[in-house]
Amino acid sequence: MSFIHVERPTNGHVITRFYKWHNYNYRFPDGCELPLQVQYAWCHGCELFVEAEKLFTTQEIQQKIENLSIKPEEWLQDIQSKMPEFAEWIQTQEIDGRPMLEVRVEERRQRRESWISALNWFDKRKSTARCLECGSMTAIKVLPWHEVIPHPYGEGVVELTFDATIVDGPLPTWTPPPIYFDLEGNRLTAAEDDSDKG
Ligand SMILES: [Zn+2]
Repeated sequence: MSFIHVERPTNGHVITRFYKWHNYNYRFPDGCELPLQVQYAWCHGCELFVEAEKLFTTQEIQQKIENLSIKPEEWLQDIQSKMPEFAEWIQTQEIDGRPMLEVRVEERRQRRESWISALNWFDKRKSTARCLECGSMTAIKVLPWHEVIPHPYGEGVVELTFDATIVDGPLPTWTPPPIYFDLEGNRLTAAEDDSDKG
């Protein structure tokens, strides 16, 4: 398990702990879904340390499109040179009766299309990054990583750190249920959750 901590560097007291794994996604009007990037902040609206949205820059999106534009053969070659055992394993696995490699290649193609669509949507975006709890754009103060700063609304100093506790055994395969946000970073209501397990 990995956690993000807002802690008192003076005595190691953890003020707020965030679960590192989350499943926040944008859902665009054309149905495309993409992961939402998270940063950590103090929110004056919530009066809490919160998870906040971190907007993608055009350059970041273009870089993702570029990475996903690598031809499937070259992508596999790259895995073979970096992680030969994984490359061998992936070529023997199946998902729902289809070769896993084929499924992964198809996923990359879809993700590439989603990011191309995202370029267009983010271009139209009006809001700045929001608090993921209350949706405020103006109340958040983003915390820098591994830097001791005055508590944004309190006494003493705080530091945002990564709790790299080593745990033996396999990584958890459980992923939290997805939460969806619209183009402007507003949380979509649970009623719109039409995920089916088929
Ligand atoms: Zn808030």
